[in-house]
Amino acid sequence: MPGPPTAEEQLSFLRSLQRLMDEGSFVASYKFALLHAIADLCLVKGDESGAELELSTSEIAEQFVRLYWCQVAPYPAEDYTQVLKQNTGRQAAIVREVAAHHSQYEGSLIDLERSNSDWRQLHRKVERTVKVMPLWKLQTVGSEQLDFLYENVGTGGFIRLKPGVAYCLRAFYPMIIDMIQGGWLHFVQRCNPGLLGQVTDLRSFLFGAPRTSLETYRPLFRDLQEGRCFYCERAIMRGGAIDHFIPWRRYPLDLGHNFVLTHQGCNSSKSDLLAAEEHLQRWTERNRTRRDELEAGFDERKVVHDWPATRSIARWAYGQVHRAGGQVWLQAKELKRLSGDWRRILHAGGGSAA
Ligand SMILES: [Zn+2]
Repeated sequence: MPGPPTAEEQLSFLRSLQRLMDEGSFVASYKFALLHAIADLCLVKGDESGAELELSTSEIAEQFVRLYWCQVAPYPAEDYTQVLKQNTGRQAAIVREVAAHHSQYEGSLIDLERSNSDWRQLHRKVERTVKVMPLWKLQTVGSEQLDFLYENVGTGGFIRLKPGVAYCLRAFYPMIIDMIQGGWLHFVQRCNPGLLGQVTDLRSFLFGAPRTSLETYRPLFRDLQEGRCFYCERAIMRGGAIDHFIPWRRYPLDLGHNFVLTHQGCNSSKSDLLAAEEHLQRWTERNRTRRDELEAGFDERKVVHDWPATRSIARWAYGQVHRAGGQVWLQAKELKRLSGDWRRILHAGGGSAA
């Protein structure tokens, strides 16, 4: 018997989980559903012994259906209602399947379960997708395998959670679920630009956080950045995205200085990662040298701003990643490990007068 994990082992578990959330890249929301499902099953099936725990793909699939069930209800938007996208490309297969059943059974999961044949069919389809899509890909972070939850055997009808995993998922369940839901919410926001935040609060809709309209920043940053992308410094031909420099998923920081104008593509490949030191350098420099201009612009648009607070949160965010030995985003799919340079940049480059 291995016994419960030590404090150090628990910490290392949380760090790995945080890396998985922050750095793992996914085209569908399955990662969140899978982590959620595993944590839920640990509450039902696990204990405090620190022992391994076997979970079948059938059990996981059932949890998937439950998790997606509320989310596939048509989302009430201004123009028309529709099922929220949960994939960066075509709608996620599981969402399509669950949505079709949701509509057929008029939202009653109980009726669907009682149908037997329809339920079995849906369950089987979802299980098949779970096996092909997220199960053996969940623990891949860039080119690294981070197999801390279960051994990535790549096949079969069950996973065996490693010793201590069920213990930790139970011990930190509320915090972990909050983290998963936060990531999931943000992912859905990214998949449905323009559709959200108009009528219904999305977090309540998905799981039962409002944010500022980002459009107001566009003209200000377009002028300030002379129409160029903050990250790659190439011209932005049309539109462009307003990016949270310190990703919103890490901290819901809607203060003016945290925003930059970027290409849609640069924005989505950076995703929830922190930007590399060279970007951090440019960002602090911009906020220091163009501070008057920026703040006049923010005031004019009634945007809340507080550079010292923004910088403190940036220090916290970079400190977190540095302690975790995590990676930061450079460009496109290129990540690198964060060096200690951020400290110098955020302390010296931030402007001591503030
Ligand atoms: Zn760019």
